[in-house]
Amino acid sequence: MQESRQELIEKIAQGSGKSQSEVKELVEKKKEKFTGLLTEDGAAFMVAKELGIELGEASPVKGKISKLEDGQQNLDLLVRVMHVFSPKQFEKNGKKGKLCSLIVADDTGETRLTLWHRDVEKMRETGVEKGSVLLLRNCYVKTFNEKPQLNLSYNGSMAVNPKGADWSCLPKAERKECSLSELRPDMVDISAVARVLRLFPATDFEKQDRKGKVMNFLIADETATIRATAWNDLVEAAEKLHENDLIKVEGAYTKGGMQGIELHLGWRSRIIQNPKLGKELPSAMQLLNEKTETRKVRELNPELGIVAVQGAIVVVNPGQLRYSVCGTCGGKIQRLDQGVVCGKCGEVKEQDIRAVVSVRIDDGSAQINAVAYGETAEKLLGFGKQELQERLGKMQAEEIIGELQERLAGKKIKAIGRARENAYSNEMQFAVRNFEFG
Ligand SMILES: [Zn+2]
Repeated sequence: MQESRQELIEKIAQGSGKSQSEVKELVEKKKEKFTGLLTEDGAAFMVAKELGIELGEASPVKGKISKLEDGQQNLDLLVRVMHVFSPKQFEKNGKKGKLCSLIVADDTGETRLTLWHRDVEKMRETGVEKGSVLLLRNCYVKTFNEKPQLNLSYNGSMAVNPKGADWSCLPKAERKECSLSELRPDMVDISAVARVLRLFPATDFEKQDRKGKVMNFLIADETATIRATAWNDLVEAAEKLHENDLIKVEGAYTKGGMQGIELHLGWRSRIIQNPKLGKELPSAMQLLNEKTETRKVRELNPELGIVAVQGAIVVVNPGQLRYSVCGTCGGKIQRLDQGVVCGKCGEVKEQDIRAVVSVRIDDGSAQINAVAYGETAEKLLGFGKQELQERLGKMQAEEIIGELQERLAGKKIKAIGRARENAYSNEMQFAVRNFEFG
């Protein structure tokens, strides 16, 4: 132990150009600052980090998973990631934190590893996934359910796929990525890459005295479009998604549903937003386009489901360009004498806005009012809802519509969506999901 510490000090001194006694002094100061929290090695690692010195990735790795015992500290291990669970947020003593559990393995066994706070962030940034190799420095062991588990301590470090380390002895993590058309009922531990086509609001459910959250969304790749369902903790990740986002799911499972295969994301799953990929996937619009039949406006009716219409924008219809929604769930709100309420959340403390733009499309067979909401409306506007809110603070909606009219009138558009009857006017209108010009 003493020797390796001396080695550490020498390495830091060499790398930083400081003398050994200067380095020792820095380490002592660090120890004092974190009285009782840091071991000498830990302090030395922190000093090295601050000086920007990568400490020997080639130095020997000490720990083996089969030898883990409760209470061990300062362990270094080289492991393979076998599974990543979805990161979790928690609150303890009024402080917010993040943790993420992984299953890791070496040639002697498998265990659970917990990463905390900034290491969760680092994991996301570096794209740690099933199959990655991690060189962990300064882990400690805590027993949970009678099984020793690894934790990366807060002065520890994690190198992803470290150069110079020999990981030929590590077990392989089978990484099979499915295209969506390959999915069959009752498959488990699925990885897939897809585009988000559409998001539905999350809802609460109660089943056999258990409360939970569930959220559906539609995803597609070049081979198929399917419905994905996020459960409970995964809803938080699903709510961060936008239409057209590229995602990778890991640890998902399938079920056969009424409308074909469904992809489910449960406690063993995670969603990676904008994953690092070798390949590109067509945009949501392109994916939708390929599978959608184009119809004449004259033929439109609600029974057709999702269709495309192709025509020119005749006019931008007058309107308020936005409406207020619940700031918590994005759902509809109602103004009552006692205040504002959301059907889901109750009293609304914070409101948000949702953009809405209506244009009249003519395709030679007839005309129809096409209405876009949310992000699709923002795409028509050419700016986001924040800017919309700012502009509406300075000018009337009519002025913005006037500008839009100048920009959009006469433009060719292909819109994908469905026909429906307007609840107030009984007039047929087209609810736009996505569109492209030209
Ligand atoms: Zn709400």
